[in-house]
Amino acid sequence: MEADLVIRNAREVVTTTGASSAPLSGQQMRGVTVIPNGFVAAHNGKIIAVGAEAELKGKIQLSAGARVIDAEQRVVIPGLVDPHTHLLFAGAREDEFLMRVAGESYMAIARAGGGIGRTVTETRKAGAQELMARGLKNLAMVMRQGTTTIEIKSGYGLSTATELEMLRVTRDLERQSPATIVSTFLGAHALAPEYKGRPDDFVEMVATEMLPAVKQENLAEYCDIFCEKGAFTVDQSRVVLKAAADLDFGIKIHGNELSASGGCALAAEMKAVSVDHCNFATPDELASMRAAGTIAVTLPGTPFFLLAPRYADGRMIIDTNVPLALATDYNPTSSISSMPFVMFLACRYMHLDPVEALCGATINAAHAVGLADRVGSLEPGKSADALILDVEDFRHIPFYVGRDIVDLVVKSGTPVCGKRVEAQRH
Ligand SMILES: [Zn+2]
Repeated sequence: MEADLVIRNAREVVTTTGASSAPLSGQQMRGVTVIPNGFVAAHNGKIIAVGAEAELKGKIQLSAGARVIDAEQRVVIPGLVDPHTHLLFAGAREDEFLMRVAGESYMAIARAGGGIGRTVTETRKAGAQELMARGLKNLAMVMRQGTTTIEIKSGYGLSTATELEMLRVTRDLERQSPATIVSTFLGAHALAPEYKGRPDDFVEMVATEMLPAVKQENLAEYCDIFCEKGAFTVDQSRVVLKAAADLDFGIKIHGNELSASGGCALAAEMKAVSVDHCNFATPDELASMRAAGTIAVTLPGTPFFLLAPRYADGRMIIDTNVPLALATDYNPTSSISSMPFVMFLACRYMHLDPVEALCGATINAAHAVGLADRVGSLEPGKSADALILDVEDFRHIPFYVGRDIVDLVVKSGTPVCGKRVEAQRH
């Protein structure tokens, strides 16, 4: 076998194996393959072999100019997958965090002009060029923290023209960034100001005008909706998601974040690929999600950052055999963009074991964005997306909160960032 990239001398290479066709659930989430003194070989950006260095070394021939990376006895894991972000926006809402810390209520913040509406105003004003610049900067920032595949939602335009603009910028980001990007249309993120008092008319417009326009330009793989008290009801959500399913979009739902909104039940009914948040998912809803094959994408960074008391019940989700994935929910009012930090939050607040957190941040997250055949594990045929981490055991990843453990990020067989790349600049 001929390789043009080799990662050698890893203390351990850690990955799930054989889970590319279905997400892991229940006890399966405790199973990863740990290869001591591991070795990864790639060719043309794809993995060709993973195993013990002693066994593989003699079978691999290096092509001319091949890159040999010495992991120096550090830990190698797959590139992380973040399956839920609102990474593209103008106007971060830092002041809302300060208000929350000072004890202001959600309503007081809304009265002061905060919330999604404020980001919509700023994003509409920004225009494509500014959004592109912000998007590239944010992507570089998340990749530096180990994310190599990321989902990005629209939803700060809320008119057909501005939603299309966000999605076109997302497509351009995909061409210009080394990251793999999945695009999700979230036209029904909040009620557009032009439709105040007429939510059903807005829902109808999203279903009959926005969705076909997005489809025509093939700008998104998924359609998502915010199904929650104060956003859209189950019936309104169903109108949008049925129209989306008819147009062959994959379905995602923001559900059961702040209340038992019925979003999880609707996700099961619609055979959604995922329902995201799930803080108030009921046992019945989880049972129906399991039957429908819907993944619970949990977002512990959101309650943590918004000073909200309720996290998704990680143990109940896993014990019900619903596949669990993790995501940052990075957005203008919650700045957490690090998947290792989210893995910590999942252990600390959702009582996940570190191995479950790793599955949630890699292969199950890849399933949640429909890319498990390409990313999310270190297996032959997949994109050579790998991290070298400055820890001695993969179980320690959640332990080093706030510490920069990302020694090197390799995307599609090319080193792109990390402490090691920066050290070479000096
Ligand atoms: Zn979200």
